[in-house]
Amino acid sequence: MPESIVCRFAPSPTGFLHIGGARTALFNWLYARGRGGKMLLRIEDTDRERSTKEAIDAILDGLRWLEIEWDGDVIYQFARAARHREVAEQMLASGNAYRCYASPDELTQMREKARAEGKTRLYDGRWRDRDPSDAPPSVKPVIRLKAPLTGETVVEDKVQGRVAWQNENLDDFVLLRSDGTPTYMHAVVVDDHDMNVTHIIRGDDHLNNAARQTQIYQALGWNVPVMAHIPLIHGPDGAKLSKRHGALGVDAYRAMGYLPAAMRNYLVRLGWAHGDQEIFSTEEMIAAFDLPQVGRSPARFDFARLESLSGHYMRATADAELVAKLEGLLPHVANGTEIAKRLTPAVRAKLVAAMPSLKERAKTLVELLDTAGFLWADRPLPLDDKAKAVLTADARGLIGSLAPLLEAGGWTAAEMEAVVRSFADGKGIKLGAVAQPLRAALTGRATSPPIFDVLAVLGKDESLARLRDQAG
Ligand code: GLU
Repeated sequence: MPESIVCRFAPSPTGFLHIGGARTALFNWLYARGRGGKMLLRIEDTDRERSTKEAIDAILDGLRWLEIEWDGDVIYQFARAARHREVAEQMLASGNAYRCYASPDELTQMREKARAEGKTRLYDGRWRDRDPSDAPPSVKPVIRLKAPLTGETVVEDKVQGRVAWQNENLDDFVLLRSDGTPTYMHAVVVDDHDMNVTHIIRGDDHLNNAARQTQIYQALGWNVPVMAHIPLIHGPDGAKLSKRHGALGVDAYRAMGYLPAAMRNYLVRLGWAHGDQEIFSTEEMIAAFDLPQVGRSPARFDFARLESLSGHYMRATADAELVAKLEGLLPHVANGTEIAKRLTPAVRAKLVAAMPSLKERAKTLVELLDTAGFLWADRPLPLDDKAKAVLTADARGLIGSLAPLLEAGGWTAAEMEAVVRSFADGKGIKLGAVAQPLRAALTGRATSPPIFDVLAVLGKDESLARLRDQAG
């Protein structure tokens, strides 16, 4: 029976879920889902000083928002410390590891000497074969891997290809610190093995760790998982991604009003391609995603592409779903609580009705929220500067004469249009010369969905009341 695929996402909860981490999670999820496998989530909270509850919550929340589901319970690395110690002891017993009693001063001297001699192996192996009875009584030892001294360590990486390290350049690195806590290097191997992880897909900043981790697997006689180290995301200028470029937490993208589907589509194309296809439904991504098509050069972050994908997903999303997503956004935007209060069932119904024309114009949910604001605005409507400029005394006069005509007619788009057209014709002016003042009075702005849609959605009473507020 072919083994079943197990991927994992293993973030360190020392900060928010950033864009690179979200992409790593997505790639793992797609790879597993496309092969009937599992994606596990392991929170690497071994660094107690830097790990925070807030960061854990932000990671879980970010993944949930992106609709990337993990299988089973979240695994917390720190909770497995006893197991990490046990394996280190096991390696001691089998002769694959040893206790090292070098003091911090000795280590500093060793490092300085190695650097001065241009060596990359910074620890000189002084306790490797030394009799433990020489151990100084006051020093608590660390446990180091007895790494191979000759030959090479090879990673057959699915993205980077064959990568080889000369063993003479690699240290006998620490597995267990003197306080009994595991190093990151050791904990990751033990956890991946115990979780039956078959595929490790992660950022290529971990490529050097892959060599060391491979040595641990080999020392233990464990199978080395398939590895794929994906290039990091760079800014549009090719420099390492910084805040200025969009190295923000996923929560920031949520607050900017991007839809999760747009975000996933954007992320999947960061470093991976499938022909020249740009738009992928979730099913399509799952079916198409594979490692050989992950590029070897850094992906470039591009806000313009994200915007345009976002606009596409706004238009493609069903009206009711967009309203639900808007409601989901409210807790994450500044005036959200106030808007939530105004979204009564009646206003909500108007929002659904206005959605076909609103969503054509909005690239993000935040824009949508802004352009939909006229639906729940209090009368008399606040006017923006452009609307004020439109509402001259003449324009207000037109509104005053038109309102009773509208009031006398029916409220379908066709009926209202007939009334407004004949009114404009009678005055010898263009339709736009009437439509703009109407728009300004009804929405407080100079741009809005088509004016007859606005009138229809607001309904007769509210529309007439708003017109009278501005009529001259
Ligand atoms: N915890 C590591 C990080 O957040 C990832 C470890 C791994 O994927 O092996 O960078």
